[in-house]
Amino acid sequence: MAAKVDKEKCTGCGICVDECPVEAIKLVDDKIVIDEDACTECGQCVDACPNESIKLQ
Ligand code: SF4
Ligand code: SF4
Repeated sequence: MAAKVDKEKCTGCGICVDECPVEAIKLVDDKIVIDEDACTECGQCVDACPNESIKLQ
């Protein structure tokens, strides 16, 4: 399991990038890339996203 981003919904605002305590989220060309191996499933990015674009699955 890891955080997954819904690319249709994500606006590329970058809030989740700053929120992740293990720096598992990066913005690449305005798209979110999540390092699934680094993700600890803490859920902070899920709570931080204003559009509910990230889910733990
Ligand atoms: S669930 Fe936590 S560790 Fe995983 S990407 Fe989101 S903020 Fe980072
Ligand atoms: S906080 Fe949500 S909308 Fe903003 S970049 Fe992250 S996933 Fe996309």
